[in-house]
Amino acid sequence: MANPSLLILPGDGIGPEVMAEVRKIIDWLGTQGTPFDVSEGLIGGASYDAFGVPLADETLARAQAVDAVLLGAVGSPKYDGVDYAKRPEAGLLRIRKEMDLYANLRPAQCFDALADFSSLKRDVVAGLDIMIVRELTSGVYFGEPRGIEGTGDDRVGINTQRYTTAEIRRIARSAFELARRRGNRVCSMEKANVMESGVLWREEVTWVHKNEYPDVALSHMYADNGLMQLVRNPKQFDVIVTDNLFGDLLSDAAAMLTGSLGMLPSASLGAPMANGRPKALYEPVHGSAPDIAGQARANPIATILSFAMALRYSFDMGDMATRLERAVETVLAQGHRTSDLMGPEGGNPMTTSQMGDAILAALKG
Ligand code: NAD
Repeated sequence: MANPSLLILPGDGIGPEVMAEVRKIIDWLGTQGTPFDVSEGLIGGASYDAFGVPLADETLARAQAVDAVLLGAVGSPKYDGVDYAKRPEAGLLRIRKEMDLYANLRPAQCFDALADFSSLKRDVVAGLDIMIVRELTSGVYFGEPRGIEGTGDDRVGINTQRYTTAEIRRIARSAFELARRRGNRVCSMEKANVMESGVLWREEVTWVHKNEYPDVALSHMYADNGLMQLVRNPKQFDVIVTDNLFGDLLSDAAAMLTGSLGMLPSASLGAPMANGRPKALYEPVHGSAPDIAGQARANPIATILSFAMALRYSFDMGDMATRLERAVETVLAQGHRTSDLMGPEGGNPMTTSQMGDAILAALKG
C-alpha cells in the first residue's frame, strides 16, 4: 500500500515556526514504521512573493491529489496594500472553496492543566471534550438573493438562509460518522421554531439518523438554547452539528471555553475521495500572529493537535492521535508553557522549539 500522503503549507508569520515542530513528529513516526509522503508548498504571502498569487494552480492541484493538507497560517500587514483578490487570506478562501470542504470541525478540548485559563469555572470545563461540526459552504453567508437595495431612508439589507436536502444530509452524515468514533451522541441545533430552513434541517437530520445511523443517539436543540447550554454545562455534549451561521457563533464561544488561541486545532472535510477518506484540510484556528513572528514565542500545540486530527480522520491512526494528545496533556501537566500560556503570575516561558521537543519526548514515552 502507498504511504499516506500529506501536503504541508506553512504559510506566513508563525506558520513555518509551528509547522517545524510538526515535522519533528512526522520524522519520528517515519522511524517507527509509519513513513509519510510529505511535500511542501506555498500559500498566502509566501506564495504571492514567489508567484504573484496567494495560491498557485499547481499548489491547488497537489492539494486535491493528496490524502490530507496541513496548513499553518496566512497573512501579514506587509500585504495590506495588495488587491483583495491577491491578499494572503484569498489563498485560504480559494483552497477551502476549490476542495469543497463543507464540514468544519472545531473540537473544544480543555486540558486539565489549563482549566484555570477558561472564563468559566474549573469544574465546568476541566476534562471537556466536545466537537462542533459547522456547515461551511452554504446557508445565509452564500444564499441568494443578497445585497442592499433601495436608496436614501428606504434601504433594505438582504441575506437569504437557504439549505437543500442534499446539503443537510451530507453534513449530518459527517456528524454521525464522527460521533461513532467518539461518544456516539449528536445534538443538532437550528431554529425550527421560527425558521423554515430550521424545520427542514431538523427533518433531514432525523431522516439520516433513522435510515443510516440509528445506533447513534440524536437530540435536537434550538440554537439559542444550545449556546446557553454550551456555557452553562458544556460537558453534556459530544458532537454538535449546526449550520454555517449558528456554527460560526457556537464554535467561537466554545473556543473561549478552553483558554488560549494557541491551543485550538480544526479540520475542514469534504466529500469522500476514491480511497473512501474525505478530502481534508487541517489547520490551527489562530492566524499568522505577526506581532510575535520570528521571536520563537509561538505555541505549536494548535498545529500539533491539528496533525493529531489528521492522524485520526484521514489516516485511520486514531491510537497514535490519542497518544499525541496525551503527550500534549503530559507536557502541560508537567508545567511546560509557551508565553501565551503564562498566567498573570508570569514565569519563564519555553520557546516554540522547546515545546515541540518536550511533546516529542513525551510521545516517545
Ligand atoms: P492571530 O490569531 O494571528 O493573533 C491573535 C493574537 O493571538 C495575537 O496576539 C497573537 O500573538 C496571538 N497568537 C495567535 N496564535 C498564537 C500562537 N500559536 N501562540 C502564541 N500566541 C498566538 O489573529 P490576528 O492578529 O487577528 O491576525 C493576524 C494575521 O493572521 C492577519 O493577517 C489575519 O488576516 C490572519 N489570519 C489568518 C488566519 C488563518 O490563516 N487561518 C486566521 C485568522 C487570522
